[in-house]
Amino acid sequence: MSITGECFCGEVKYNLNGTLRDARSCHCSRCRKAFSSQASAYALVEANEFEWVSGENLLTSYIGKHGFGLQFCSKCGSTICGVFNGSVHGVTLGCINGDPKIELGRHIYVGSKANWETIADGVPQYLESVPENA
Ligand SMILES: [Zn+2]
Ligand SMILES: [Zn+2]
Repeated sequence: MSITGECFCGEVKYNLNGTLRDARSCHCSRCRKAFSSQASAYALVEANEFEWVSGENLLTSYIGKHGFGLQFCSKCGSTICGVFNGSVHGVTLGCINGDPKIELGRHIYVGSKANWETIADGVPQYLESVPENA
């Protein structure tokens, strides 16, 4: 199955020849800023299954201290993917086209969520992180 995604203006497009893994939503204050939202919505990909289709030249990056960063469309500002040490690490669920057949599996850092957010029941919530393979 191939999954496609694109930014708000449509200039940046990607194709994923594989599956999304470990979809999660992080409610920490840093993710709220990075995703301009109540939380992140993000799933992991295999870097070798991911390819840019168009607009790669429009990408701009913000790389944090630990080698993990995010890439954005410099034209419309959509946050498209996460990168780790230069390779694509995951994608934002919001920029995926259609139904990627994955659901958020956990809410993390719920202990520091915004007071204005109410998280729906039914998905495991963790006050902080959980081990990567939990
Ligand atoms: Zn764009
Ligand atoms: Zn976070």
